[in-house]
Amino acid sequence: MSDINKLLNPAQWKGNIFNGQWHAAQGGSLTVREPATGEVLAEIGQANAADAEQAIQSAVAAQRAWAAVPPRERAAIFRRAANILQAHFDELVMWVVRETGGIVPKGQLEINEAIELFSMAAAMQHENQGIVLPSAAGRLSYAKRVPHGVVSVISPFNVPLVLSMRAVGPALAAGNAVVLKPDPQTPVSGGLMIAAVLQAAGLPEGVLHVLPGGAEPGSVLCDSPLVKMIAFTGSTAVGRLVAEAAGRHLKKVTVELGGKSPLLILDDADLDVAASNAAWGAFLHQGQICMASGRILVQESIAEEFTRRLVAKATHLPVGNPATEQVALGPLISERQRDRAHAIIQDSVKAGAKLEAGGTYDRLFYKPTVLSNVKPGMRAYHEEVFGPCASIITFKTDDEAIAIANDTEYGLSAGIITADVGRAMRLGERIDSGMLHINDQTVNDECCNPFGGRGCSGNGGNVGGPSAWENFSQLRWVTVQSAAHPYPF
Ligand code: NAD
Repeated sequence: MSDINKLLNPAQWKGNIFNGQWHAAQGGSLTVREPATGEVLAEIGQANAADAEQAIQSAVAAQRAWAAVPPRERAAIFRRAANILQAHFDELVMWVVRETGGIVPKGQLEINEAIELFSMAAAMQHENQGIVLPSAAGRLSYAKRVPHGVVSVISPFNVPLVLSMRAVGPALAAGNAVVLKPDPQTPVSGGLMIAAVLQAAGLPEGVLHVLPGGAEPGSVLCDSPLVKMIAFTGSTAVGRLVAEAAGRHLKKVTVELGGKSPLLILDDADLDVAASNAAWGAFLHQGQICMASGRILVQESIAEEFTRRLVAKATHLPVGNPATEQVALGPLISERQRDRAHAIIQDSVKAGAKLEAGGTYDRLFYKPTVLSNVKPGMRAYHEEVFGPCASIITFKTDDEAIAIANDTEYGLSAGIITADVGRAMRLGERIDSGMLHINDQTVNDECCNPFGGRGCSGNGGNVGGPSAWENFSQLRWVTVQSAAHPYPF
């Protein structure tokens, strides 16, 4: 039932995808379910390869006119979009909560970040868009930022609005057209919401396309020579396929991938604060965060007491439906994710890890889990769980802590909790990660910071803040003389 005071109208999406207007998908329909209850939230269109091809053609046709829209007009569209999000704040928060299974503050964070990202897109219209270069007298030499053309954004299910918007915002701001493929489990927060906001804000038709669907439309976007850049966020396995396809076509690609981020608790840490940081870093959004504190490295002399305090937290955190109850953890997104997390935890216990708390579930609600005695060779030591699991590993010396912290193929975030900032800075210098937080856990993101990982966590492409212009445009060198001069021959 649609309500004219609401921004989102599920009737509009029935069987439809978005190209500036809502139109029938050729790939059939997709049912969106609330993970906490299994209730159907929406029936939307599912994009197939043909839909993706059409979207790309239409985006190519719209892009040059969009790049030529005067900066003030573009800025006004983004400002209106930010205002529309603000005006419908509560309505949109509850969509994010119900569709992703995240708690209300996480839903609020997503809408607030999207508002900031639209505001930043507006502000980008008034920034310098190039540089004047030194050259011979009478010769003007400059480098001007130009858009790539069509940019494709592929995003995951966990923080769908922010992870789509952090690329859609700067890509549109830099004058690109965008074809966005959200995850089929969270297509409303990851795509249709953005379409509805930008349609209401007056974005010209064809500049943004939203294709809910899976690998089929996704691989068309990666393989099309007409798509000049891919901004991918998701798993390392799929990121590899995306980067391979981009390499074949010599297109620009940013891959923001998985992690197994270390949180170091040094022997001088306040243990209550350290346990709180570890619980937040490991259990927030049920551990379904790329920057989750996937390994808790604790100095041996405090390990027993620290574990006791973390277990006390884990066993008292309420788990339930975040749309109807005051909880700290909601459901995991799917049975597939739950079964994978459960298998990693069980296999690690079989291999000798000690189950201190949790390790059980009811439907998609997984209990906050604490494993101690986690060692190399166990799945919980090496693999991203993407579930609420704190894996405790002990170390004796600072050198040993660094060796363990770097004993991973990933390199996304790292955190160090200590009373000695100098010691933390020396340790931090030696940890191979794209992001480092001293006296904080590993889950941190503000849309103004460059966000990116190393190794299997990504190609260091970075999104956010200073990376916006760098990634979503190219510097084009231009020289101008008043008349052509003859050369020696
Ligand atoms: P996933 O890789 O399975 O899916 C991500 C997106 O890729 C989805 O939209 C999916 O439909 C699409 N996709 C799947 N196959 C494709 C193909 N062949 N070609 C093109 N697109 C394809 O990711 P997931 O498991 O759903 O998400 C969780 C993962 O994402 C975790 O590993 C997590 O760490 C990572 N992640 C990373 C960041 C970051 O910024 N580094 C942020 C959030 C999540």
